[in-house]
Amino acid sequence: MTTEMKTSTMKLSDVRPCDFCDGKIAPIFYTMTIKLALFSPKNTNRTLGLTQFLGSLALAEAMGAEDPVVISEESDTTYELFICNDCCNGINSSKLDFSAALEKIRELHEKKEAENASK
Ligand SMILES: [Zn+2]
Repeated sequence: MTTEMKTSTMKLSDVRPCDFCDGKIAPIFYTMTIKLALFSPKNTNRTLGLTQFLGSLALAEAMGAEDPVVISEESDTTYELFICNDCCNGINSSKLDFSAALEKIRELHEKKEAENASK
């Protein structure tokens, strides 16, 4: 039995340096997708109410309570971070600053949107 690795591809023009150390990412790097997630108050209340009524979260979920957490699939709230092998494996001594990396990605998104708008 052979096990094949499931893959996707990326254009060279979409490749950029590591979002944490600005270092090179070749030949191996990691990507991390960050999405906005939030609790729906209505669904949370329903689920908790049903849980209290039935005495079990598993039962409430099995009875069809709607999931209380909503995850955005919108591109403007989804960020893909590039992490070089050294940062991912703790070889770089600096701590991973996610807020700085996300700020960089947001600026990149805004720059690309401005470029697309001017076309
Ligand atoms: Zn790095």
